[in-house]
Amino acid sequence: MSASLPIDPQRRQQVAQALLAVLPERCVLSDPEDTRPYECDGLAAYRQLPMIVTLPDDEEQVLAILNVCRELNVPIVPRGAGTGLSGGALPMADGVVLSTARMNRIVRMEPYARLAVVQPGVRNLAISDAAAPHGLYYAPDPSSQIACTIAGNVAENSGGVHCLKYGLTVHNVLRVRVATIDGDIIELGGEALDAPGLDLLAVFIGSEGMLGIVTEVTVRLIPKPATARVIMASFDNVVTGGNAVASVIAAGIIPAGLEMMDQTSSRMVEPFVRAGYDTDAAAILLCEADGTQLEVDEEIERMTAVLQAAGAGAIAVSQSEAERLRFWSGRKNAFPAAGRISPDYYCMDGTIPRKNLAQVLTGIAQMEATYGLRCANVFHAGDGNLHPLILFDANQPGEFDRAEAFGADILALCVEVGGTITGEHGVGKEKINSMCIQFTRAELDAFFAVKRAFDAQHLLNPDKAIPTLNRCAEFGKMRVSGGVLPFAGLPRF
Ligand SMILES: Cc1cc2nc3c(=O)[nH]c(=O)nc-3n(C[C@H](O)[C@H](O)[C@H](O)COP(=O)(O)OP(=O)(O)OC[C@H]3O[C@@H](n4cnc5c(N)ncnc54)[C@H](O)[C@@H]3O)c2cc1C
Repeated sequence: MSASLPIDPQRRQQVAQALLAVLPERCVLSDPEDTRPYECDGLAAYRQLPMIVTLPDDEEQVLAILNVCRELNVPIVPRGAGTGLSGGALPMADGVVLSTARMNRIVRMEPYARLAVVQPGVRNLAISDAAAPHGLYYAPDPSSQIACTIAGNVAENSGGVHCLKYGLTVHNVLRVRVATIDGDIIELGGEALDAPGLDLLAVFIGSEGMLGIVTEVTVRLIPKPATARVIMASFDNVVTGGNAVASVIAAGIIPAGLEMMDQTSSRMVEPFVRAGYDTDAAAILLCEADGTQLEVDEEIERMTAVLQAAGAGAIAVSQSEAERLRFWSGRKNAFPAAGRISPDYYCMDGTIPRKNLAQVLTGIAQMEATYGLRCANVFHAGDGNLHPLILFDANQPGEFDRAEAFGADILALCVEVGGTITGEHGVGKEKINSMCIQFTRAELDAFFAVKRAFDAQHLLNPDKAIPTLNRCAEFGKMRVSGGVLPFAGLPRF
């Protein structure tokens, strides 16, 4: 758990005065009572009271905030709804939080062009709700979609259950409008399939608030499938379940969703949601088919055959839309359900090649014994994107430290089998040390060069996502290629 650093009252007054000279009073919070709700994001183990919180109403005010902060050399932490799970929106004691949550208008809906132009604070689900009368929706569907904002999704390159078939945020955003730290507006991408110039849109998506402030987003909308059905398949061990995932994809099927829950997860969810899960199974898979009635019937038949051949026991197929939603409701509510069986949980996020699912799940089970902590696995199996929920009690001395070490070991295992330390939750503050395991010095240098190109003063979310080489050296981990001495002449940012 991190302790909040003290805030310099004189500096706070100086920065607040400068901000109040360019913004209405309601847009600037500096009283600790008002700034307290911003002290953490979804990674609540890390907390820091911000020096000041700003809540701009429009792009002009965003630029005004950036100008003040640049002139006074104040770090800026962008924020959406604060649902991030890696501490990306964790404030700084000498920094300003810039929340775009109030910029929450749908600017334009263009059903014929199948796109929507929205302000950064629009909630993910609100886009699909607004597109629904046109028979369209926005495909990436993080489980937090009722609350999280599109700017947060852009910054984290968020995913969700349907991203296996329809792609992540990066595949569904056409254009972003960005306020730069220099006080300019730039537009990355365009409304056509391709845009001229360097593909900076792809660089920006997933950049975790380190390159600029998102002030507008153009998203792709797609037609709502005519129908969808989901299979719930039971397995008597997680290894067979993990292998079944690889079999489905190897059979040339791309399901609309392919999710796995182990027994700890289904047992924690079932009394909470009554989704109808087989709680005797060691693991269950949820496999969705969508499209026309014919396509769905055919795919359900093919998936059933593959799952049976892969060792599934019971197989249930949703018989109505209500039942399909019920099957998914358990999966979507798995994180909150963890609160029923454990005072605290720590949600990890790593990605591995699908063929290694069984191996990594077995490795995680061994780590449960090593660390003396339980772990529930509920995840986007089709993408190989794991979400181990490590259960612990923060009131028990040492348990949080053990949970953190457990999580770091899982990420190291993901890298070892050829995977990555994040699938969709980002690096933020949480996984900054794990970056030292994943990347070489040259790779980290390249990231810093991009950061410098957008933010030479290093003011935008400066302590997140990319570790300094000094940090990697202190952490004692740096992947070195070609026998190059790792710590010689470590550059500081
Ligand atoms: C219960 C639960 C379930 C979740 N399920 C999923 C899931 O299925 N898939 C998934 O991908 N994630 C999931 N998440 C994580 C989280 O919801 C996503 O990362 C989401 O995109 C964060 O959006 P936000 O608006 O809350 O952003 P915040 O948490 O406020 O910020 C996230 C990052 O975006 C940056 N940022 C915010 N606004 C801006 C802006 N205007 N300009 C530039 N940078 C900005 C911040 O600095 C930070 O780095 C889940 C979280 C919870 C609590």
